Amino acid sequence: MDKQYLLSDQDEAPGCAPSVQQSQVLQGAGMFSTGGVASNQSEAGGATAPPADLMDTVPGYEGMGAGGKDLPPPYHGLPEPQVPTPNQPNRDWQIPSITEEVAQEAFMEYASSKCCYSKKPAKEMYFTDLQSHNTYRYRLETFTESRSTEWTSEPYRGQVVDGYMGVAPGPWDIAVSSPAMFQNNKKEVPIPHTSSVKGCHACLGLGRSACPKCVTSGMMQCWVCRGAGRRVSDDRCSHCNGIGRVRCTSCSGAGSETCKTCQGKGKLLCFIKLIVKWKNNVHESVVDKQSGLPTEHISKVTGEIVFSDMQYLVYPVVGFPDNAINQASARAVREHQVQFSSTCRILQQKQTIELIPVTRVHYSWKGKTHIYFVYGAEHRVFTEGYPAKCCCCLLL
Ligand SMILES: [Zn+2]
Ligand SMILES: [Zn+2]
Ligand SMILES: [Zn+2]
Repeated sequence: MDKQYLLSDQDEAPGCAPSVQQSQVLQGAGMFSTGGVASNQSEAGGATAPPADLMDTVPGYEGMGAGGKDLPPPYHGLPEPQVPTPNQPNRDWQIPSITEEVAQEAFMEYASSKCCYSKKPAKEMYFTDLQSHNTYRYRLETFTESRSTEWTSEPYRGQVVDGYMGVAPGPWDIAVSSPAMFQNNKKEVPIPHTSSVKGCHACLGLGRSACPKCVTSGMMQCWVCRGAGRRVSDDRCSHCNGIGRVRCTSCSGAGSETCKTCQGKGKLLCFIKLIVKWKNNVHESVVDKQSGLPTEHISKVTGEIVFSDMQYLVYPVVGFPDNAINQASARAVREHQVQFSSTCRILQQKQTIELIPVTRVHYSWKGKTHIYFVYGAEHRVFTEGYPAKCCCCLLL
């Protein structure tokens, strides 16, 4: 599960016990897309998975049952990340707070974006203080691959049957090229040497199944007279000639239709398919500088990337000036390692630190002081107490 954490900022609030709370659940970017074998599990047509107990026993895939469970990759010992050569960030991390002009411009825009707010306070105010509360967002992305297997079938049209031609490779022995990194994806491929031909379980090999509308009779109730054979005026129904029943429109009177499972072939090619899923698992932590700006606002803005690192397995960030980030990184890397190394294969990891500018602005209007925040590269504004929320009131 992807999580966002809120870190207490111990530098800014000495004496505060560090507290970690889960504040938000984020979805990994993108959606699954299907490639490889076309999905043939739909209700509308095509084969459905045959009952697993009718299937042959394939060495290495015994007791598969309904399948669909993630299969752990073979254990090769715990993977170890490469310890990086010390690369202490040696730049000046603090970027200056925004200018008064930028702060006022952002405030004016904010006031005009609210339909009823008067622009007067934003126009007439004067600044008393601009405080920089820049903060950081740490993000760890772990791109994983998981595999599961499932019996499936397709109509038999004379395809190669390879069940007894060799030994089926293990689910993790099959080479499947991975798509773009850090993007969710899904692929299905048939596992070699698992296929065999079976009679269709749905139609018992007949290739046709009973018409669900007329239940083999080929006739259905006349919709004009509703089966009475007569109209309201007591005339004979001309649509059904007084019989009350007409030819079934669904099967054209045949009483049966082509079996959807085998598409009329009567036989199915049954095989085990390998389902490969790629997922980007995202962890985010934001350092709460206790500026008064609720941290959930920070997750919605962009910042400046000040550190970026991509490896097969990343090493936790060390020596970053804000220790809360070092701790967040250590914890996130450990958690992802524990969570993913036993159930799936980690393909790549990426970690970034973003600096999010936050300025706390104190201003005075009509003799009273107020506060607002300008945050993010977008210069978004947050304030709880705009002094003139209804422009009509000012006329009084
Ligand atoms: Zn009729
Ligand atoms: Zn019918
Ligand atoms: Zn069938």
